[in-house]
Amino acid sequence: MRIIYDANEMHSIADKHREWRKIIGFVPTMGYLHEGHLSLVRQARRDNDVVFVSIFVNPLQFAPNEDFDRYPRNLKRDEELLKREGADFLFYPSVEDMYPEGFQTYVEVEKLTKVLEGKSRPTHFRGVTTVVAKLFNITKPHKAYFGKKDAQQLIVLKKMVRDLNMGIEIIGMPIVREEDGLAMSSRNKYLKGEERNQAVCLFKALKKTEELIAGGEDDVSAIVSEMRKVIEGYPLAEIDYISVNRISDLSELERIEKGNTLVSLAVRIGNTRLIDNMWF
Ligand code: AMP
Repeated sequence: MRIIYDANEMHSIADKHREWRKIIGFVPTMGYLHEGHLSLVRQARRDNDVVFVSIFVNPLQFAPNEDFDRYPRNLKRDEELLKREGADFLFYPSVEDMYPEGFQTYVEVEKLTKVLEGKSRPTHFRGVTTVVAKLFNITKPHKAYFGKKDAQQLIVLKKMVRDLNMGIEIIGMPIVREEDGLAMSSRNKYLKGEERNQAVCLFKALKKTEELIAGGEDDVSAIVSEMRKVIEGYPLAEIDYISVNRISDLSELERIEKGNTLVSLAVRIGNTRLIDNMWF
């Protein structure tokens, strides 16, 4: 596996692979890799001739009060894991290379980013779409892999690709979980002792929803109130939102629509904000 630090060099490597008619698979990440990330790399390895992975902690998607500075990093370990998975190129640019002085061009998906995570983090998705558009321009993938863990991100990026005719296939992959059900996340590292135990409440609330829906419940307010009850059983948990939305346009639902429903929530455990979701 080669590590490429420079955007121009990565761009030429992508051009060469296009010239050679290679199918390029791309997995963008912020590093501190876990099994969730690696499941995307594995799928990319199965589907493509060449696999590019990027690691870039993107300052543009963090608000000033968020954890950009303390976001966990471990390049050496990430490198080993990616080698083991058979990634071909790791793109690892600097902030200065991605956002040189005078940078002023942004990509924004309008409506889909105003709800859910966008309400709590109003500048977040503009940062995500801008960096992903840049990464797509640099790596020229045929297919790009994203986790359903960040459900709204996946939906927003699919929209961006369609609206801007980027011609890239966006592939959404299942959420990988710890043994107790906690969705894997680089931020789980922040959870200490009892916080880690109580972090399972998001999954427990979603499991409750799964049971209710399987039992025929389709009333959203009843489901949300049951989810609240589950989370209230965990004293360290503070709910940011619980929401039930139509997958196609993220509008709020009053009744479950089978095959088109996203149940998602954000919960604070101490200082750590966790998100999770299920698709029904
Ligand atoms: P991040 O490094 O957090 O930006 O994540 C990079 C990619 O990995 C995104 O597409 C995430 O949705 C995906 N991802 C993160 N955690 C998981 C998980 N537990 N299961 C599946 N995909 C994940």
